[in-house]
Amino acid sequence: MSCKWETIIGLEIHLQLKTRSKIFCSCSTDFSAPANTNTCPICLGWPGSMPALNQKAVLLALRGAVALNCKINRESSFDRKNYFYPDLPKGFQITQYFRPLGFEGFFQVGENKVGIQRVHLEEDAGKTIYNGEEVEIDYNRAGIPLVEIVTEPDLVSPDQARDFLRELRLLLLYLGISDCNMEEGSLRCDANISISTGGEKTGENQVELKNLNSFQAIARALEYEQNRQKALKKGGEEIARETRGWDTTEEKTFLLRSKEESVDYRYFPEPDLPVLVLEEGLIDSVRMDLPEKPQERKKRWEREWKIEKEETEVLISQQARADFFEKTARLAPPREAAKWIKENLVNFDFPPEISPEELGDIINRVRAGELSTSRGKDVLQLCLESGKNPARIIQEKGWTQVSDEDYIEKLVDRVLEENPGVVDDYLSGKDKAIRFLIGQAMKLSQGQANPGLVWDLMERKLEERKNYG
Ligand SMILES: [Zn+2]
Repeated sequence: MSCKWETIIGLEIHLQLKTRSKIFCSCSTDFSAPANTNTCPICLGWPGSMPALNQKAVLLALRGAVALNCKINRESSFDRKNYFYPDLPKGFQITQYFRPLGFEGFFQVGENKVGIQRVHLEEDAGKTIYNGEEVEIDYNRAGIPLVEIVTEPDLVSPDQARDFLRELRLLLLYLGISDCNMEEGSLRCDANISISTGGEKTGENQVELKNLNSFQAIARALEYEQNRQKALKKGGEEIARETRGWDTTEEKTFLLRSKEESVDYRYFPEPDLPVLVLEEGLIDSVRMDLPEKPQERKKRWEREWKIEKEETEVLISQQARADFFEKTARLAPPREAAKWIKENLVNFDFPPEISPEELGDIINRVRAGELSTSRGKDVLQLCLESGKNPARIIQEKGWTQVSDEDYIEKLVDRVLEENPGVVDDYLSGKDKAIRFLIGQAMKLSQGQANPGLVWDLMERKLEERKNYG
Protein backbone atom coordinates (compact mmCIF):
# COMPACT_ATOMS: atom_id res chain seq x y z
CA MET A 1 0.00 0.00 0.00
CA SER A 2 1.37 3.38 -0.85
CA CYS A 3 0.38 6.43 1.02
CA LYS A 4 1.09 10.11 0.72
CA TRP A 5 2.59 11.75 3.75
CA GLU A 6 1.51 15.16 4.80
CA THR A 7 3.52 17.26 7.19
CA ILE A 8 1.71 19.79 9.33
CA ILE A 9 3.73 22.47 11.09
CA GLY A 10 2.76 25.40 13.29
CA LEU A 11 5.15 27.86 14.93
CA GLU A 12 5.19 29.74 18.21
CA ILE A 13 7.49 32.70 18.17
CA HIS A 14 8.60 34.67 21.21
CA LEU A 15 9.85 38.10 20.49
CA GLN A 16 11.54 40.48 22.91
CA LEU A 17 10.05 43.93 22.46
CA LYS A 18 12.40 46.87 22.05
CA THR A 19 11.66 48.80 25.23
CA ARG A 20 14.04 50.42 27.68
CA SER A 21 12.24 49.11 30.73
CA LYS A 22 10.53 45.85 31.66
CA ILE A 23 6.85 45.15 31.10
CA PHE A 24 5.55 45.65 34.67
CA CYS A 25 8.32 47.66 36.40
CA SER A 26 10.90 50.32 35.58
CA CYS A 27 13.94 47.98 35.63
CA SER A 28 16.24 48.27 32.61
CA THR A 29 16.15 45.68 29.83
CA ASP A 30 19.88 46.12 29.12
CA PHE A 31 21.13 42.77 27.91
CA SER A 32 24.75 43.36 28.94
CA ALA A 33 24.16 44.28 32.61
CA PRO A 34 25.79 42.06 35.28
CA ALA A 35 23.56 39.22 36.50
CA ASN A 36 20.71 40.15 38.87
CA THR A 37 21.40 43.90 38.79
CA ASN A 38 18.28 44.81 36.80
CA THR A 39 15.78 43.62 39.39
CA CYS A 40 13.29 45.06 41.86
CA PRO A 41 10.53 43.75 44.17
CA ILE A 42 8.06 43.66 41.25
CA CYS A 43 10.08 41.54 38.82
CA LEU A 44 11.37 39.41 41.69
CA GLY A 45 7.78 38.76 42.71
CA TRP A 46 7.98 39.95 46.31
CA PRO A 47 4.70 39.77 48.18
CA GLY A 48 2.73 43.00 48.06
CA SER A 49 4.45 44.41 44.98
CA MET A 50 2.12 45.71 42.28
CA PRO A 51 2.74 45.47 38.51
CA ALA A 52 2.09 48.48 36.24
CA LEU A 53 1.85 47.93 32.49
CA ASN A 54 4.50 49.48 30.19
CA GLN A 55 2.65 51.48 27.50
CA LYS A 56 5.48 51.28 25.02
CA ALA A 57 5.33 47.47 25.12
CA VAL A 58 1.61 47.62 24.35
CA LEU A 59 2.17 49.94 21.39
CA LEU A 60 4.93 47.78 19.94
CA ALA A 61 2.90 44.58 20.31
CA LEU A 62 -0.09 46.33 18.76
CA ARG A 63 2.05 47.40 15.81
CA GLY A 64 3.05 43.75 15.30
CA ALA A 65 -0.52 42.48 15.59
CA VAL A 66 -1.85 45.07 13.14
CA ALA A 67 0.96 44.36 10.64
CA LEU A 68 0.03 40.67 10.83
CA ASN A 69 -3.52 41.54 9.82
CA CYS A 70 -4.97 40.50 13.17
CA LYS A 71 -8.32 41.40 14.58
CA ILE A 72 -7.65 43.47 17.67
CA ASN A 73 -9.40 43.12 21.00
CA ARG A 74 -10.05 46.67 22.10
CA GLU A 75 -10.32 45.18 25.57
CA SER A 76 -7.77 42.49 26.29
CA SER A 77 -6.67 41.18 29.65
CA PHE A 78 -3.89 39.49 31.55
CA ASP A 79 -3.87 36.07 33.18
CA ARG A 80 -1.65 34.06 35.45
CA LYS A 81 -0.04 30.92 34.10
CA ASN A 82 0.90 28.97 37.19
CA TYR A 83 3.86 26.62 37.35
CA PHE A 84 6.87 26.10 39.52
CA TYR A 85 10.32 26.66 38.16
CA PRO A 86 13.31 28.28 39.88
CA ASP A 87 13.69 30.96 37.20
CA LEU A 88 10.08 32.05 37.71
CA PRO A 89 10.24 34.00 40.97
CA LYS A 90 6.51 34.65 41.37
CA GLY A 91 5.50 31.04 40.76
CA PHE A 92 3.42 32.23 37.83
CA GLN A 93 3.93 34.06 34.56
CA ILE A 94 1.69 36.95 33.56
CA THR A 95 0.42 36.40 30.02
CA GLN A 96 -2.71 36.99 27.95
CA TYR A 97 -4.59 33.71 27.75
CA PHE A 98 -8.32 34.31 27.63
CA ARG A 99 -8.38 37.61 25.73
CA PRO A 100 -5.22 38.16 23.68
CA LEU A 101 -4.37 41.51 22.09
CA GLY A 102 -4.66 40.20 18.51
CA PHE A 103 -6.20 37.12 16.88
CA GLU A 104 -7.18 35.61 13.51
CA GLY A 105 -4.56 37.35 11.41
CA PHE A 106 -2.45 36.14 8.51
CA PHE A 107 0.93 36.66 6.92
CA GLN A 108 1.52 36.17 3.24
CA VAL A 109 4.86 34.65 2.24
CA GLY A 110 5.11 34.31 -1.54
CA GLU A 111 2.18 32.12 -2.55
CA ASN A 112 1.47 30.93 0.97
CA LYS A 113 -0.97 32.62 3.26
CA VAL A 114 -0.20 31.50 6.79
CA GLY A 115 -2.83 32.03 9.45
CA ILE A 116 -1.87 33.82 12.66
CA GLN A 117 -3.87 32.35 15.51
CA ARG A 118 -2.97 34.94 18.12
CA VAL A 119 -0.57 37.70 19.11
CA HIS A 120 -0.34 38.39 22.82
CA LEU A 121 1.77 40.13 25.41
CA GLU A 122 3.57 38.35 28.24
CA GLU A 123 6.58 38.59 30.50
CA ASP A 124 9.75 36.58 30.17
CA ALA A 125 11.09 34.30 32.92
CA GLY A 126 14.62 34.50 34.32
CA LYS A 127 17.55 32.66 32.83
CA THR A 128 18.88 29.39 34.22
CA ILE A 129 22.57 28.82 33.66
CA TYR A 130 23.94 25.31 34.18
CA ASN A 131 27.50 25.66 35.36
CA GLY A 132 28.94 22.21 35.99
CA GLU A 133 27.45 20.97 39.26
CA GLU A 134 25.92 24.33 39.99
CA VAL A 135 22.83 25.99 38.68
CA GLU A 136 22.82 29.78 38.54
CA ILE A 137 19.84 31.99 37.97
CA ASP A 138 19.84 35.46 36.45
CA TYR A 139 16.62 37.40 37.04
CA ASN A 140 17.58 40.27 34.72
CA ARG A 141 15.42 38.65 32.11
CA ALA A 142 12.42 38.17 34.41
CA GLY A 143 9.77 40.64 33.35
CA ILE A 144 11.27 41.50 29.95
CA PRO A 145 8.34 42.27 27.62
CA LEU A 146 7.61 39.61 25.05
CA VAL A 147 5.09 39.25 22.33
CA GLU A 148 4.10 35.72 21.41
CA ILE A 149 3.00 35.02 17.85
CA VAL A 150 1.23 31.70 17.29
CA THR A 151 0.62 30.55 13.72
CA GLU A 152 -2.07 28.17 12.51
CA PRO A 153 -0.67 24.76 11.49
CA ASP A 154 -0.53 25.95 7.88
CA LEU A 155 3.07 25.15 7.04
CA VAL A 156 3.69 21.94 5.12
CA SER A 157 7.46 21.47 5.06
CA PRO A 158 10.55 22.27 7.12
CA ASP A 159 11.84 24.57 4.37
CA GLN A 160 8.57 26.44 4.24
CA ALA A 161 8.68 26.90 8.02
CA ARG A 162 12.20 28.29 7.82
CA ASP A 163 11.32 30.65 4.95
CA PHE A 164 8.23 31.81 6.81
CA LEU A 165 10.27 32.65 9.87
CA ARG A 166 12.89 34.43 7.79
CA GLU A 167 10.26 36.64 6.15
CA LEU A 168 8.49 37.21 9.45
CA ARG A 169 11.75 38.28 11.08
CA LEU A 170 12.39 40.74 8.25
CA LEU A 171 8.93 42.23 8.70
CA LEU A 172 9.39 42.53 12.47
CA LEU A 173 12.75 44.24 11.96
CA TYR A 174 11.19 46.76 9.58
CA LEU A 175 8.45 47.41 12.11
CA GLY A 176 11.18 48.28 14.61
CA ILE A 177 9.50 46.39 17.41
CA SER A 178 12.38 44.03 18.22
CA ASP A 179 16.08 43.43 17.53
CA CYS A 180 15.09 39.92 16.45
CA ASN A 181 18.52 38.72 17.46
CA MET A 182 18.33 34.94 17.56
CA GLU A 183 21.72 34.43 19.22
CA GLU A 184 20.85 36.75 22.09
CA GLY A 185 17.43 35.17 22.42
CA SER A 186 15.34 38.18 21.46
CA LEU A 187 13.65 35.96 18.89
CA ARG A 188 12.92 32.36 19.92
CA CYS A 189 10.97 29.76 18.06
CA ASP A 190 9.13 26.57 19.05
CA ALA A 191 7.46 24.35 16.47
CA ASN A 192 4.64 21.82 16.49
CA ILE A 193 4.90 19.08 13.92
CA SER A 194 2.79 16.09 13.04
CA ILE A 195 2.68 13.69 10.14
CA SER A 196 -0.51 12.51 8.59
CA THR A 197 -1.33 10.06 5.81
CA GLY A 198 -4.22 12.25 4.80
CA GLY A 199 -7.67 12.46 6.25
CA GLU A 200 -6.42 12.09 9.80
CA LYS A 201 -7.32 14.67 12.35
CA THR A 202 -4.26 16.76 12.94
CA GLY A 203 -2.89 17.79 16.26
CA GLU A 204 -3.79 14.45 17.83
CA ASN A 205 -0.25 13.26 17.94
CA GLN A 206 1.71 16.42 17.55
CA VAL A 207 5.22 16.80 18.83
CA GLU A 208 6.45 20.11 20.11
CA LEU A 209 10.04 21.12 19.41
CA LYS A 210 11.46 23.64 21.85
CA ASN A 211 14.05 26.37 21.39
CA LEU A 212 14.94 26.26 17.71
CA ASN A 213 17.19 29.26 17.82
CA SER A 214 18.58 29.56 14.33
CA PHE A 215 17.10 29.20 10.85
CA GLN A 216 19.32 26.19 10.35
CA ALA A 217 18.09 24.57 13.58
CA ILE A 218 14.49 25.07 12.50
CA ALA A 219 14.92 23.41 9.12
CA ARG A 220 17.14 20.60 10.42
CA ALA A 221 15.14 19.78 13.55
CA LEU A 222 11.87 19.69 11.63
CA GLU A 223 13.47 17.57 8.91
CA TYR A 224 14.77 15.12 11.50
CA GLU A 225 11.46 14.97 13.30
CA GLN A 226 9.55 14.48 10.06
CA ASN A 227 11.71 11.46 9.20
CA ARG A 228 11.56 10.06 12.73
CA GLN A 229 7.78 10.20 12.77
CA LYS A 230 7.48 8.68 9.29
CA ALA A 231 9.72 5.78 10.29
CA LEU A 232 7.65 5.15 13.43
CA LYS A 233 4.40 5.25 11.48
CA LYS A 234 5.75 2.91 8.82
CA GLY A 235 6.64 0.48 11.59
CA GLY A 236 3.03 0.66 12.72
CA GLU A 237 3.82 2.61 15.86
CA GLU A 238 1.88 5.48 17.32
CA ILE A 239 3.56 8.83 17.71
CA ALA A 240 3.55 9.86 21.33
CA ARG A 241 2.51 13.41 22.13
CA GLU A 242 5.62 14.89 23.62
CA THR A 243 7.92 17.86 23.90
CA ARG A 244 11.36 17.41 22.39
CA GLY A 245 14.57 19.42 22.28
CA TRP A 246 17.12 19.78 19.48
CA ASP A 247 20.70 18.73 20.00
CA THR A 248 22.76 20.88 17.64
CA THR A 249 25.92 18.78 17.96
CA GLU A 250 24.29 15.39 17.51
CA GLU A 251 21.79 16.86 15.05
CA LYS A 252 18.86 14.98 16.53
CA THR A 253 15.78 15.66 18.61
CA PHE A 254 15.50 14.21 22.10
CA LEU A 255 12.69 13.71 24.58
CA LEU A 256 12.19 16.53 27.10
CA ARG A 257 8.86 15.45 28.54
CA SER A 258 5.78 13.52 27.58
CA LYS A 259 2.54 15.46 27.21
CA GLU A 260 0.88 13.05 29.63
CA GLU A 261 3.06 14.50 32.34
CA SER A 262 2.35 18.03 31.20
CA VAL A 263 1.35 20.46 33.86
CA ASP A 264 -2.05 22.05 34.18
CA TYR A 265 -1.27 25.74 34.28
CA ARG A 266 -4.53 26.64 36.04
CA TYR A 267 -4.87 29.92 34.19
CA PHE A 268 -6.90 32.56 35.94
CA PRO A 269 -7.28 36.35 35.46
CA GLU A 270 -4.49 38.44 36.94
CA PRO A 271 -6.14 40.35 39.78
CA ASP A 272 -3.46 43.06 40.04
CA LEU A 273 -3.83 44.40 36.49
CA PRO A 274 -6.86 46.19 35.06
CA VAL A 275 -8.35 45.29 31.68
CA LEU A 276 -6.21 46.71 28.88
CA VAL A 277 -8.47 49.13 27.01
CA LEU A 278 -7.19 50.64 23.76
CA GLU A 279 -8.19 54.24 23.14
CA GLU A 280 -10.62 55.01 20.37
CA GLY A 281 -8.68 55.60 17.16
CA LEU A 282 -5.44 54.05 18.39
CA ILE A 283 -5.68 50.96 16.19
CA ASP A 284 -6.28 53.11 13.11
CA SER A 285 -3.41 55.42 13.88
CA VAL A 286 -1.08 52.44 14.38
CA ARG A 287 -2.26 51.05 11.04
CA MET A 288 -1.66 54.40 9.29
CA ASP A 289 1.79 54.59 10.78
CA LEU A 290 2.98 51.18 9.47
CA PRO A 291 5.94 51.31 7.09
CA GLU A 292 5.75 49.68 3.68
CA LYS A 293 6.28 45.96 4.36
CA PRO A 294 9.54 44.57 3.00
CA GLN A 295 7.66 41.92 1.02
CA GLU A 296 5.60 44.64 -0.71
CA ARG A 297 8.61 46.85 -1.24
CA LYS A 298 10.45 44.03 -2.99
CA LYS A 299 7.47 43.39 -5.27
CA ARG A 300 7.24 47.08 -6.13
CA TRP A 301 10.90 47.15 -7.14
CA GLU A 302 10.43 44.11 -9.35
CA ARG A 303 7.25 45.48 -10.89
CA GLU A 304 8.06 49.15 -11.35
CA TRP A 305 11.81 49.15 -11.72
CA LYS A 306 12.28 45.69 -13.26
CA ILE A 307 14.92 44.77 -10.72
CA GLU A 308 15.93 41.09 -10.83
CA LYS A 309 14.66 38.94 -7.97
CA GLU A 310 18.19 37.91 -7.06
CA GLU A 311 19.07 41.57 -6.55
CA THR A 312 15.92 42.52 -4.64
CA GLU A 313 16.59 39.68 -2.17
CA VAL A 314 20.03 41.12 -1.42
CA LEU A 315 18.83 44.72 -1.23
CA ILE A 316 15.83 44.06 1.01
CA SER A 317 17.66 41.94 3.57
CA GLN A 318 18.86 44.99 5.52
CA GLN A 319 16.58 47.93 6.00
CA ALA A 320 19.37 50.51 5.85
CA ARG A 321 20.61 48.98 2.60
CA ALA A 322 17.10 48.95 1.17
CA ASP A 323 16.63 52.62 2.09
CA PHE A 324 19.99 53.50 0.54
CA PHE A 325 19.02 51.72 -2.68
CA GLU A 326 15.63 53.42 -2.74
CA LYS A 327 17.27 56.86 -2.54
CA THR A 328 19.96 56.07 -5.11
CA ALA A 329 17.34 54.67 -7.49
CA ARG A 330 15.64 58.06 -7.52
CA LEU A 331 18.86 59.78 -8.62
CA ALA A 332 20.21 57.29 -11.16
CA PRO A 333 18.60 54.51 -13.22
CA PRO A 334 17.24 51.98 -10.67
CA ARG A 335 18.60 48.89 -12.39
CA GLU A 336 22.07 50.40 -12.50
CA ALA A 337 21.79 51.43 -8.86
CA ALA A 338 20.76 47.89 -7.86
CA LYS A 339 23.66 46.41 -9.78
CA TRP A 340 26.23 48.82 -8.35
CA ILE A 341 25.11 48.25 -4.78
CA LYS A 342 24.94 44.48 -5.13
CA GLU A 343 28.35 44.28 -6.78
CA ASN A 344 30.24 46.83 -4.74
CA LEU A 345 28.59 47.53 -1.41
CA VAL A 346 27.09 44.34 0.01
CA ASN A 347 30.02 43.73 2.32
CA PHE A 348 29.74 47.16 3.90
CA ASP A 349 27.77 48.21 6.95
CA PHE A 350 24.96 50.54 6.02
CA PRO A 351 24.87 53.44 5.76
CA PRO A 352 28.33 53.31 4.12
CA GLU A 353 30.88 56.13 3.78
CA ILE A 354 29.17 57.35 0.65
CA SER A 355 25.80 58.97 0.20
CA PRO A 356 23.12 57.93 -2.29
CA GLU A 357 23.75 61.28 -4.02
CA GLU A 358 27.43 60.46 -4.47
CA LEU A 359 26.82 56.94 -5.74
CA GLY A 360 24.17 58.31 -8.09
CA ASP A 361 26.74 60.86 -9.33
CA ILE A 362 29.27 58.11 -10.12
CA ILE A 363 26.68 55.98 -11.92
CA ASN A 364 25.52 58.94 -13.99
CA ARG A 365 29.08 59.91 -14.93
CA VAL A 366 29.73 56.36 -16.12
CA ARG A 367 26.53 56.40 -18.15
CA ALA A 368 27.43 59.75 -19.69
CA GLY A 369 30.78 58.35 -20.74
CA GLU A 370 32.76 60.64 -18.46
CA LEU A 371 34.19 57.64 -16.62
CA SER A 372 34.77 54.06 -17.73
CA THR A 373 33.04 51.44 -15.55
CA SER A 374 36.28 50.34 -13.97
CA ARG A 375 37.31 53.95 -13.27
CA GLY A 376 33.89 54.48 -11.74
CA LYS A 377 34.56 51.58 -9.40
CA ASP A 378 37.94 53.08 -8.49
CA VAL A 379 36.22 56.36 -7.64
CA LEU A 380 33.67 54.52 -5.51
CA GLN A 381 36.44 52.69 -3.69
CA LEU A 382 38.27 55.95 -2.94
CA CYS A 383 35.06 57.58 -1.75
CA LEU A 384 34.58 54.75 0.72
CA GLU A 385 38.16 54.95 1.92
CA SER A 386 38.56 58.71 2.14
CA GLY A 387 35.03 60.03 2.60
CA LYS A 388 35.73 62.58 -0.17
CA ASN A 389 33.09 63.17 -2.82
CA PRO A 390 33.42 61.75 -6.36
CA ALA A 391 33.89 65.13 -8.09
CA ARG A 392 36.83 65.94 -5.85
CA ILE A 393 38.46 62.53 -6.34
CA ILE A 394 38.08 62.73 -10.13
CA GLN A 395 39.60 66.20 -10.11
CA GLU A 396 42.50 65.31 -7.81
CA LYS A 397 43.35 62.19 -9.80
CA GLY A 398 42.84 63.88 -13.15
CA TRP A 399 40.49 61.06 -14.13
CA THR A 400 38.21 63.02 -16.38
CA GLN A 401 37.54 60.84 -19.37
CA VAL A 402 38.62 62.27 -22.69
CA SER A 403 35.95 62.26 -25.38
CA ASP A 404 37.76 64.61 -27.74
CA GLU A 405 37.50 62.97 -31.16
CA ASP A 406 40.65 64.47 -32.63
CA TYR A 407 42.67 63.20 -29.71
CA ILE A 408 41.14 59.74 -29.95
CA GLU A 409 41.64 59.58 -33.69
CA LYS A 410 45.33 60.29 -33.23
CA LEU A 411 45.55 57.54 -30.63
CA VAL A 412 43.85 55.05 -32.94
CA ASP A 413 46.08 55.94 -35.89
CA ARG A 414 49.17 55.51 -33.79
CA VAL A 415 48.08 52.08 -32.53
CA LEU A 416 47.24 50.91 -36.06
CA GLU A 417 50.64 52.07 -37.26
CA GLU A 418 52.56 50.40 -34.43
CA ASN A 419 50.79 47.02 -34.71
CA PRO A 420 50.72 46.05 -38.41
CA GLY A 421 50.71 42.30 -37.61
CA VAL A 422 47.60 42.54 -35.48
CA VAL A 423 45.93 44.71 -38.09
CA ASP A 424 46.63 42.00 -40.70
CA ASP A 425 45.11 39.42 -38.37
CA TYR A 426 41.94 41.46 -38.21
CA LEU A 427 41.83 42.01 -41.95
CA SER A 428 42.21 38.26 -42.55
CA GLY A 429 39.08 37.62 -40.51
CA LYS A 430 40.23 37.38 -36.88
CA ASP A 431 37.64 39.80 -35.48
CA LYS A 432 38.83 39.40 -31.91
CA ALA A 433 42.15 41.09 -32.77
CA ILE A 434 40.34 44.41 -32.36
CA ARG A 435 40.25 43.92 -28.60
CA PHE A 436 44.02 43.97 -28.39
CA LEU A 437 44.18 47.17 -30.45
CA ILE A 438 41.59 48.88 -28.27
CA GLY A 439 43.49 47.77 -25.18
CA GLN A 440 46.63 49.38 -26.59
CA ALA A 441 44.82 52.66 -27.27
CA MET A 442 43.38 52.74 -23.74
CA LYS A 443 46.83 52.06 -22.35
CA LEU A 444 48.34 54.91 -24.36
CA SER A 445 45.68 57.27 -22.99
CA GLN A 446 46.37 56.01 -19.47
CA GLY A 447 42.79 54.84 -19.21
CA GLN A 448 41.37 58.27 -19.88
CA ALA A 449 40.03 57.87 -23.40
CA ASN A 450 36.33 57.22 -23.73
CA PRO A 451 36.32 53.46 -24.51
CA GLY A 452 33.10 53.65 -26.51
CA LEU A 453 34.59 56.26 -28.85
CA VAL A 454 37.86 54.34 -29.15
CA TRP A 455 35.91 51.24 -30.14
CA ASP A 456 33.83 53.09 -32.76
CA LEU A 457 36.81 54.78 -34.37
CA MET A 458 38.98 51.70 -34.33
CA GLU A 459 36.26 49.66 -35.99
CA ARG A 460 35.60 52.33 -38.60
CA LYS A 461 39.27 52.68 -39.54
CA LEU A 462 39.78 48.91 -39.75
CA GLU A 463 36.70 48.47 -41.92
CA GLU A 464 37.97 51.26 -44.20
CA ARG A 465 41.22 49.38 -44.63
CA LYS A 466 39.32 46.16 -45.34
CA ASN A 467 37.34 47.81 -48.10
CA TYR A 468 39.98 49.97 -49.68
CA GLY A 469 43.20 48.47 -48.40
ZN1 LIG B 1 11.89 45.18 38.22
